[in-house]
Amino acid sequence: MEPHAKATPTPPLVSVPLQRPQPQPQPPAGHTTSTAERGSFCLAVCTCGWTGPARRSRDLARRDAARHTVE
Ligand SMILES: [Zn+2]
Repeated sequence: MEPHAKATPTPPLVSVPLQRPQPQPQPPAGHTTSTAERGSFCLAVCTCGWTGPARRSRDLARRDAARHTVE
């Protein structure tokens, strides 16, 4: 009979690098525009949060978006 020995093997300590998930609410540089329909109107929207004025035609909204991307 052996005496009660607490021989608990300890695993080697592995240094885990602290990784913090960094949320990126802002999109990368550049503007990606698209058109959105609101009722009977159409307006240009951008990934930066910009929205153009409501237009009656999608073509005008696209023109607003194109004007926004060059600014
Ligand atoms: Zn934009």
